[in-house]
Amino acid sequence: MAFTVKPDRGDHIIDLPRKVVVGFGVLEKVGGYMATLYGRGSSFLIITGPNVRGIALNTILDSLQDGGFNAWDSIVNDASVYTAARIAEEAAKDRVDAIIGLGGGKSIDVAKYAAKTGGKSFISIPTVASHDGITSPYASLKGFDKPVSRLAKPPDAIIVDVKVIASAPRRYNIAGFGDLIGKLTAVRDWRLANMLKGEYYGDYAASLALMSATHVSTYYREIAAGSPEGYRILLEALVSSGVAMCIAGSTRPASGSEHLFAHALTITAKNPPLHGEAVAVGTIIMASLHGINWRKIRKLLKTVGAPTNARELGVTSDEVIKALTIAPTIRPDRYTILGDKPLEQDVAYNLARKVEVID
Ligand SMILES: [Zn+2]
Repeated sequence: MAFTVKPDRGDHIIDLPRKVVVGFGVLEKVGGYMATLYGRGSSFLIITGPNVRGIALNTILDSLQDGGFNAWDSIVNDASVYTAARIAEEAAKDRVDAIIGLGGGKSIDVAKYAAKTGGKSFISIPTVASHDGITSPYASLKGFDKPVSRLAKPPDAIIVDVKVIASAPRRYNIAGFGDLIGKLTAVRDWRLANMLKGEYYGDYAASLALMSATHVSTYYREIAAGSPEGYRILLEALVSSGVAMCIAGSTRPASGSEHLFAHALTITAKNPPLHGEAVAVGTIIMASLHGINWRKIRKLLKTVGAPTNARELGVTSDEVIKALTIAPTIRPDRYTILGDKPLEQDVAYNLARKVEVID
């Protein structure tokens, strides 16, 4: 199918990571990798959470200090714009060159946004592979007016220790798989917005995002088994989805109607699931609207051990229906298969029931 080629408004600038390292025991070598990017004596501020502290922080601090760098850490307890502003201030006062986000979603998002507001470099060192925010230039923080991500800073470097990722609870990595499967519908929503609304569409970025979904689908056995090869494949795919967003200059290739549903569920659910888990279920629902084989997608998710219905997500049927009705209003500028008006209650109910997300 051919798509309308629309020039981007203004110059299309692509910022990509300068270094991506995925390997075993790589945290001990962070100082060496940084020496290829930053001058001796450069300063690094590591943002991390209270739970991550023991795992990897000291290894990285030692490696940076042994490499002739200044490095210290700051613990954050929440992922809010206020915390990010405080970190940006701290980084300016202490004249740091780069802010490192070490951990899961929260530390990475705070570091990424603080780096943007403070004009610093951002380095991503994820300890879980639960979503593609670990590699993308977008952050989602509390204190924004909507629960959607905003442009922050693309990572200057991404360093992932497979040993650390493998020690995280399996649920996190399976959520990462779910986030990637979401690209199957995200890319279709983007094409739709191009055809119906004349929105800019980049086929290269779209293909790259789609490839990250097909890559993990091909190797689902390795990922389900939690083998080292499985973790590597999952991480490669997350990096490629993050890079697709860098190339597109938006989250479009990685986030469509399935993400609107996942974002809406964070509002409607008392105990929201992990982002990638909600995306997995959202993908089943939106696949049926797009006329693609939702049963096949559901089977794949089930085989890997991802949630495929409300009960497995730990949410109620009402919370799912409410999320579906408000999903199109979460981000009015993002046209998707859900259209641009709230869904009628009975439409949402029938849709969720049809794909067996609710009983
Ligand atoms: Zn996502």
